[in-house]
Amino acid sequence: MSVLIYIDNQDGKIKKAGFEAASYGVALAKEAGVAAVAVSLGNVDESELAKLGNYGITKVLSCTDARFATLDNSAIAKALAVAANQSNANIVVLAHNNLGKAVAPRLAVKLNAGLVSNVTGLPISLQPFKVNKNVFTGKAIGHALIYTEKKVLTLSYNSFGVIEQAASAVIESFDPGLNASDFGLTVEQTQKVTGKILLSEAEIVVAGGRGMKGPENWTGIEQLAEELGAGTACSRPVSDEGWRPHGEHVGQTGKIIAPNLYFAFGISGAIQHLGGVSGSKVIVAVNKDPDAPIFEAADYGIVGDAMKVLPQFIEAVKELKA
Ligand SMILES: Cc1cc2nc3c(=O)[nH]c(=O)nc-3n(C[C@H](O)[C@H](O)[C@H](O)COP(=O)(O)OP(=O)(O)OC[C@H]3O[C@@H](n4cnc5c(N)ncnc54)[C@H](O)[C@@H]3O)c2cc1C
Repeated sequence: MSVLIYIDNQDGKIKKAGFEAASYGVALAKEAGVAAVAVSLGNVDESELAKLGNYGITKVLSCTDARFATLDNSAIAKALAVAANQSNANIVVLAHNNLGKAVAPRLAVKLNAGLVSNVTGLPISLQPFKVNKNVFTGKAIGHALIYTEKKVLTLSYNSFGVIEQAASAVIESFDPGLNASDFGLTVEQTQKVTGKILLSEAEIVVAGGRGMKGPENWTGIEQLAEELGAGTACSRPVSDEGWRPHGEHVGQTGKIIAPNLYFAFGISGAIQHLGGVSGSKVIVAVNKDPDAPIFEAADYGIVGDAMKVLPQFIEAVKELKA
C-alpha cells in the first residue's frame, strides 16, 4: 500500500505546488502507516528530483518522456493510473491547480476511485475516510467522505504548507507504456510572459483596485512588486476598464490565489474579490475609507490615500533591503 503523489514541474523545475503536495502526501502516508511514493512526468533531471528528499520523500518514479511537456491531461491521467497500480497506491494526491483539476477526475474514473477536490488538510478520520475541503470559493469548509477503496485528492494551494524533513530520495525510472495515440494534444505555439512572476506561484502579491484611479498610477504597484519579488494583481473593474490585463484579475470570476502576503491598495473588499484572495496567509489593506469591507478581512490595515502610502512602502522596503 502507498500514497502516490504527483509532482508538478515546469521547465524542468519542481513547482512549489509539487513540494506542498509532497509534504502533504508524506504526512498522510505516515498517518495511514503506508509508504509515500512521488511520481514525476516530463524532463526533470535527477538532481532536481533529489530535492524531494528534503520533504520526506524516499522514492520517486520518474518518467522523463518530453512529450509530457504539453501537459496533455488525458496522457497524464493514464500515466498516473499506471503508476498508482504499479505502486499499489490507495490514495493519489495532486495539487488543486489547473492541471490537478483537469487530471484528477479522469484519474478517479480510471481507478474507480472516490474524488475530493480542494482538500484543506489531513483527514479528520481514515475509517471512514473523511476530509475537509474548501467550498463556495473558500467561504465555507465542507466535510467530504469517501467510501471507495481508492481515493484521489487535490490539495488546495498553500493550505498545508511546504514542510522540510530530511530523507534521501531514491529515483527509479518509470515507463507508463504510453504510445503515440495516447498523446492527443499538440501545442503549436507557446507565448510566455517574461520577467514577470506567475500569480499562481507568487509568495507575495501586490494588487490595486479602482481606488488607484487609473492605469497611470500603477507604476507604484509595479515598483513595490519589483522590490518585494512579488506578482501583481487587480480587482475585476480594473481589468474590465482595461487598466490592467485580464490575467491579473483575481476573485470569484478571476484567478484564485493564496500567497503568503497579499497587499490590497484601493480595493473595497467586495465578497467576489475576497473569494479569490481569502486564502492568503496575511492580508495588508490600504484604503481611505475606514469602513471599507476589506478591513474586516485584513490582518493589517492602513486608513489612508494609496497614492501617498505606496511611495512610503517602497522607500521602507528599499531601506530594509539596504
Ligand atoms: C457575479 C460577479 C462576479 C464578480 N467577480 C469579481 C472578481 O472576480 N473580482 C473582483 O475584484 N470583483 C468581482 N466582482 C465585482 C465586485 O462586486 C466589486 O464591484 C469589485 O471587486 C470592486 O472593485 P474595487 O474594490 O477595485 O472598486 P470599488 O468598489 O470602486 O472600490 C474602490 C475602493 O478604493 C478606495 N479608494 C478610493 N480612492 C482611494 C485612495 N486614493 N486611496 C485608497 N483607497 C481609495 C475606496 O474607498 C473603495 O473602497 C464581481 C461582481 C459580480 C456581480
